[in-house]
Amino acid sequence: MNKQKTDLKNLTLPALEQFLQGQGKERFRALQVFKWLYQQDAHGFEEMTNISKALRKELDETAFISNLEPEAVEQGSDGTRKYLFPLADGTSVESVLIPIEGRNTLCISSQVGCAMACEFCLTGSFKLTRNLTTAEIVNQIMAVRRDLIRNPPALTLDIPVTGDDEEDDDQPESPAAIRNIVLMGMGEPLHNLDNVIPAIQIMIDGNGLQLSNRRVTVSTCGLVPEMGRLGREIPNVNLAVSLNATTDELRDRIMPVNRSYPLRELLKACKEFPLPGRRKVTFEYVMLGGVNDTLDDAKRLLKLISDIPNKVNLIPFNEHEGCGFKAPTRAAIDAFHKYLIDRHVTVITRDSRGGDISAACGQLKGKLEKKSVA
Ligand code: SF4
Repeated sequence: MNKQKTDLKNLTLPALEQFLQGQGKERFRALQVFKWLYQQDAHGFEEMTNISKALRKELDETAFISNLEPEAVEQGSDGTRKYLFPLADGTSVESVLIPIEGRNTLCISSQVGCAMACEFCLTGSFKLTRNLTTAEIVNQIMAVRRDLIRNPPALTLDIPVTGDDEEDDDQPESPAAIRNIVLMGMGEPLHNLDNVIPAIQIMIDGNGLQLSNRRVTVSTCGLVPEMGRLGREIPNVNLAVSLNATTDELRDRIMPVNRSYPLRELLKACKEFPLPGRRKVTFEYVMLGGVNDTLDDAKRLLKLISDIPNKVNLIPFNEHEGCGFKAPTRAAIDAFHKYLIDRHVTVITRDSRGGDISAACGQLKGKLEKKSVA
């Protein structure tokens, strides 16, 4: 029924202006509608009471407002919430909410599956089904925001996950507010930039979701040309790079993207990424037992990133079915962590509480699907 209609949540404010102008409407109408969508969370045009009935009727004939509702929500004892969202075509994606010291970080998906085929990743084994639309990306945030209003989180984790904690202020915050967005769920966001960029524009629009671009982090496995495009089109967004290996030989093997964009090119792109002020590139490093977890790896890692403003997230691998990799030992994790800390690198090692979330994109989907079938 909606096939010929335009999903308004696919449109940035300028695109919505164009859409309405194409129907002969004044420009300010777009701002009114945009605010209804993101500030009032309107589900239908009949709610838009400052717009004439005639225009509401016209909109109803040409456009619609999509939404997502989770079909499963799993809450961990640490306060982490995992959402599984069914999509209109029968596929599904996941989002993960991580409350940290009273501030909420939401990890969202950008694709159904992923084409990047990283060897250690469950999502990679699903292959790419399709890109998420802009609407499906922003609707993950809106659905979680609704859930937070109904059920504010009580418990918090105490580990920072991402972003610019150095710049955090001490403003008290509503437990229902989402402070940080990380595009680190299912999919490679830079493989879907045509939809991800408008979604970020809606997130950071002062009339849209009103997030600060300092609070949005895009994670990539290393699509070098797209890193350049992201930096040009949305400067000031945070960048996280899933590195996971310190030699091309190993990275070629566990992350096929490296065969197209080897470490030297990737690190050059990191160096050139426009990060303002004191902000740093986050290097994600999934520690695979016996594969990339030695002190030699730590030394090489330090050398590779030393001329880039950096911080490191160490993510001990969580073993999952059908994957040949092993978790690293506690001793290996501690030694790696200490090596970097002793050399003044900001390092966060995610423990098993929050660690399986954004680290292992795709594991959640598997878990929740089993649960919803049970
Ligand atoms: S780690 Fe990220 S980029 Fe690699 S296959 Fe998984 S979802 Fe894709």
